[in-house]
Amino acid sequence: MVQTSYQVMILVIDDDEVLRRRISKRLERHGYQVMGASNGLLGLEQARLRKFDLIMVDHRMPVMGGMEFIRRLVTQEEAPPVIMLTGAGDESVAVEAMKLGASDYVVKDSEGIYLEMFQMVIDQALNRRQLLLDKLRAETALRVSEEQYRLLFIWMQDGFALLGNTGGSGCNVCSLRFQELNPAFGRMFSIVPETLIGQCVCRLRSIPGEDWLPQLDQVRTTGSGRQFEVRSEARNLFFEVTAYIPQPGRIAVIFEDVTARKLYESELERLATTDSLTGVGNRAEFCRRAETELERLRRYQGSCSLLMLDLDDFKKVNDRYGHGVGDQVLIAAVTTIRNCLRKIDVVGRYGGEEFVILLPETDLPEARIVAERIRRTIEIMTVSAGDRTVSITTSCGVTLLGVTEDATITQALDEADQALYRAKHEGRNRTVLFEHPSAMTGTDLTGIYPIARYHDATLLPDA
Ligand code: GH3
Ligand code: MG
Ligand code: MG
Repeated sequence: MVQTSYQVMILVIDDDEVLRRRISKRLERHGYQVMGASNGLLGLEQARLRKFDLIMVDHRMPVMGGMEFIRRLVTQEEAPPVIMLTGAGDESVAVEAMKLGASDYVVKDSEGIYLEMFQMVIDQALNRRQLLLDKLRAETALRVSEEQYRLLFIWMQDGFALLGNTGGSGCNVCSLRFQELNPAFGRMFSIVPETLIGQCVCRLRSIPGEDWLPQLDQVRTTGSGRQFEVRSEARNLFFEVTAYIPQPGRIAVIFEDVTARKLYESELERLATTDSLTGVGNRAEFCRRAETELERLRRYQGSCSLLMLDLDDFKKVNDRYGHGVGDQVLIAAVTTIRNCLRKIDVVGRYGGEEFVILLPETDLPEARIVAERIRRTIEIMTVSAGDRTVSITTSCGVTLLGVTEDATITQALDEADQALYRAKHEGRNRTVLFEHPSAMTGTDLTGIYPIARYHDATLLPDA
């Protein structure tokens, strides 16, 4: 018997009341709930009012016989399975009933042996019915999911492409061909999706950026999905690409336009590393660059100098001309500093009117010349403030980076600061070198610098 969590309800339609009772009793003994009707018309009425799991119907009945009953019942939505009860010799009727939609038939005999078959016939009919319902449900679910996929495919903002691996000899990424492309994909790359169907992925080589094909080939050869970023030079766009294998021989690729996020991130990074007034790197950024330079020095030797500049008496500039003019002077000073430097040199704003400069591949005598060039250019620089012009001077401390093996950036900054302090102390508008003893070895500074821990390296005007 079919296992159900509820009682199976059966309608028995037979004009012979005695027989109907007998059949009903037998079915009830098997655990079914049974209702009866004396002809097809009453049976149809019952079937409209109640939801039966199965109906057993006699062939010959007054008002409406079994055949007409079946003909009308099957037009109802979700009609239950019907078992036709026929008399002996009426097998042709049974065949006809089956053609109309009956699930099975039982031939009645006068001894009542046919009652023994009920259990099996009902079980089979209910099983068939269940299978049919399951199949219909699965088909509906599939239809719904396909419809959802279609809607997603059409409306999704990300570009979606389904690629088929055509394989073959000399199999490479060129064996991947476009099978499906959604409208967003077309919009992203300004193509009509249909024109790419059946085409090799290489047709779209440069538009999303060259990088995507080798990455795609990795997915094809390793058989596992991956996520990567590509930059479309052609469109100045960034994409996050997800490529995976939805089924053997196919690769699905999703292109997400992450340009806005990338720009936002780079803007955040710029804000975090740049001084907003002057546009040069801030102290943290400068220190990062200096650490990298120190690493490079340790590995490849060479020399790198560090300059620390502090504008002289800048407070007076603010006091005399106002903070706004002070800002203009700071900006002009940075422009001047930059004009005195090479592209590889690094400038940072260390504090208010204090700047630090890294001069890669530059020894102390060369750094002194650069420092002096900056000092003199700032000295002759003018910034207009209404009808007046502002002039400033700067002091500069210079040191070498990474002179000893255990040298640190903090130490170099401290040395430059000490030299700068000295420059201030000795009257401002001058350059002072911090002379590390070990830096002197091998460098003939005789006649240029007197050997001293600090050296005023300011060049005379005619030097
Ligand atoms: P010294 O020669 O000893 O360096 O004297 P100074 O006046 O330059 O040094 P002090 O440290 O006494 O003052 C620095 C001044 O720089 C004071 C501060 O208001 C000004 N300053 C710092 N940052 C800014 C800025 O962003 N804009 C303006 N306008 N002024 C600034
Ligand atoms: Mg100052
Ligand atoms: Mg200062």
